[in-house]
Amino acid sequence: MAELGLPGVLQPGVGLRGRVAGARGRSPFAAGPGNKSDFSGGSEGRRSRSAFGGGRSLALLGTLAAAFFVASAHAQVLASRIWPARDYTRLTLESPAELKYKVFSIKDPERLVLDLEVAELSPALAELNSKVAVDDPYVQGLRVARNRPGVIRLVLDLKGEVKPQVFTLPPIGDYGHRLVLDIYPAVPIDPLAALIAESEKKQLVLEKPDARAPDKPTEKPKVARLATIVIDAGHGGEDPGARGRRGTREKDVTLMIAKRLKTLVDDEPSMRALLTRDGDYVLKLEDRVKKAHTVKADLFVSIHADAFVRPTARGSSVFALSEKRATSEAARYLANEANRADLIAGVNLTSKEDYIQRTLLDLYQTATIDHSLRLGNAVLRQLGTVNTLHKGQVEQASFHVLKAPKIPSILVETAFISNPEEEKKLNDQTYQDKLARAILAGIRDYFAKNPPRPQSPLALN
Ligand SMILES: [Zn+2]
Repeated sequence: MAELGLPGVLQPGVGLRGRVAGARGRSPFAAGPGNKSDFSGGSEGRRSRSAFGGGRSLALLGTLAAAFFVASAHAQVLASRIWPARDYTRLTLESPAELKYKVFSIKDPERLVLDLEVAELSPALAELNSKVAVDDPYVQGLRVARNRPGVIRLVLDLKGEVKPQVFTLPPIGDYGHRLVLDIYPAVPIDPLAALIAESEKKQLVLEKPDARAPDKPTEKPKVARLATIVIDAGHGGEDPGARGRRGTREKDVTLMIAKRLKTLVDDEPSMRALLTRDGDYVLKLEDRVKKAHTVKADLFVSIHADAFVRPTARGSSVFALSEKRATSEAARYLANEANRADLIAGVNLTSKEDYIQRTLLDLYQTATIDHSLRLGNAVLRQLGTVNTLHKGQVEQASFHVLKAPKIPSILVETAFISNPEEEKKLNDQTYQDKLARAILAGIRDYFAKNPPRPQSPLALN
């Protein structure tokens, strides 16, 4: 985490270097509701007071000419990105000033049309059609062309019915103004489906008679139920997390370790795992918690890599939720940074339900935190066998991602990505495996003393 703690932590090559002193005072998000077929946005007028963008120097121009020039120079798209994922596909357009736009959908075949009020068909827009991945779950193709003077039209050919959300984001970190089009499936993806498939597979294996003892009557294995571990790879998509000096991105490392841990958990006869995200895309903190809640997870483990300005900072640490105060200044700082992830990632805050706020009032929270600390201590002890420990005990702070009311939840800072030595280790598959095995060993230790309670309707028997 600590995504803003390091210089140059966010994505390079975005094309908006040296930008935008006029970031303050922008209008709030111009969001459109999720399921209307036609909505538009953008600020009521372009702001000529915005600073000089696009690397142009206006120093020699007169005031009036400069104002006009800046306005037209800003109404353009300087960077474009598409993030395809199972949950949804995101299209991001970045510009030095807020873009004016209109979105509508057309049926037979399903298409989405995005009209942008921009002066020119910039390279960032022109290259968009080549950025659509063949295996994008929702977008078949994309066409860009001038529609009329001052308007560039994007037409997205879709693979099926979708529920688009469009909104703008003010500049943050290394990013300028962003226009975001999120393309959700009309029928949302059900996280339970994947999990049930996993359980059925495991049950088949468990019920298979032992081939070496054919004479013995087969006894049904005494697995009360599978414990469900939700593994959360920190960051993703527009939010790369912290960045190491060699360019390692936290979001990539966390996903690799999370996937490794999922395989190990699924190999355990009494456990099964679900990843909150299995690709490189933005996932709201709230949605990570919600997924764990939906599958009635027994445990929630969020994987991160730490960063600090001092490259010598090192070691693993484990965090649990604190309802009241953070156990240290550093823990409070980390929680604040982690909770900002939604802003960097680009989350449509207008669609926010106050799930997380509500859960804070839950009476279960105190008992859950107690179990989170037991789990955290077990995992921390095991991490101590593969890495030095940054802190000898579990720290506590108000992390949004740890706020599931009934699910013991921990956040593991595997190592410091800002420490060159640890960055190297984080990239090493053998070491990733060691970290994953240590976390699993901690989970096992926790379950040995605190067996999963018979609560889940997903129980096998
Ligand atoms: Zn992180």
